[in-house]
Amino acid sequence: MSKTDHNHLHAPLLGWFARHGRELPWRTDPEPYRVWLSEIIMQQTRISQGMAYWQRFVAAWPTVDRLAGADEQQVMRLWQGLGYYSRARNLHRAAKLIAAMGAFPQTYAEIIRLPGVGPYTAAAIASLCFGEAQAVVDGNVYRVLSRLYAIATPIDTTQGQRLFRDLARDILPPDRAADWNQAMMDLGAMVCTPRNPQCGECPLNVYCAVYPDGTAENHPVKQGKVKQRERRFIYLWVECGGCVALRRRPGGDIWQGLWEPYMMEVTGCGTAALPPWAEGAVLLRSGMKHVLSHQVLLADAYRVEADRRPTLPGDYRWVPLNEVDRYGLPRLVQKLFALTDT
Ligand code: SF4
Repeated sequence: MSKTDHNHLHAPLLGWFARHGRELPWRTDPEPYRVWLSEIIMQQTRISQGMAYWQRFVAAWPTVDRLAGADEQQVMRLWQGLGYYSRARNLHRAAKLIAAMGAFPQTYAEIIRLPGVGPYTAAAIASLCFGEAQAVVDGNVYRVLSRLYAIATPIDTTQGQRLFRDLARDILPPDRAADWNQAMMDLGAMVCTPRNPQCGECPLNVYCAVYPDGTAENHPVKQGKVKQRERRFIYLWVECGGCVALRRRPGGDIWQGLWEPYMMEVTGCGTAALPPWAEGAVLLRSGMKHVLSHQVLLADAYRVEADRRPTLPGDYRWVPLNEVDRYGLPRLVQKLFALTDT
């Protein structure tokens, strides 16, 4: 497919975008810090959920310099509940780098070197903020393109990723990169949705290969689903003298840098005996399921009130109960111990 083959798509989609595009605060003022923040927060997160986080971040740290100067624990705490915590750590690291540079990098080639920024985010910032002709390829774009051209190549293969990246680049009107990228994403989010796409309302339906036979939901094609590993966690909320034992999770596993109460992981399909000092522990919840991208966690929660502080491994510290909310805790722990309303 040559570049000119796609020109007929530009006017209808850009016209639709001008009428129906989503009004988002980082679009009305596409300042790079605000756009970057939105892109990092919205990865793996619906806009309806991520918006409140974006607003809280902008309110707490209105500029990249302010974010760079923030305490990492504060950043993690504000991120709490969004999951994928490495994103928050990279966000903070990148803010420090940008602050040291003195200005936000302005080209795709520079932006992609920031921690936590991949091709999608770099293309979004470079096109939205600096008008660079870079095509974004996110889940929405995969879906729209795969349907528009009835592409059978699985999107989760190297070949598929190259094909979609090249097609997205060829289809992009270079002088309207920002609007085009946003239009493609909005079409995927609002009209060409994963289930029940609104093909009758679609500005591209006369050009769409799957519209005539109603097979939109067969696209995009995926080779295979990610296999999820199941893990069993037992948490003990150990309270003594108005304090609770918490530890910071180490690296090399989920939730690196977040805090958690005493925890035991059960391997295989066995059960775990509680430690002797936990005699009298009360079971609060059993088998609570928590699904991550590659893991399914099943967790039990106990509470125990000890007269004397038991001897725990060295990485636990005793935190006054009225200070627990200053510590970033995984969503699962918050739910297990009813530390959250949602
Ligand atoms: S006609 Fe339907 S399937 Fe085709 S691009 Fe539009 S919404 Fe998607």
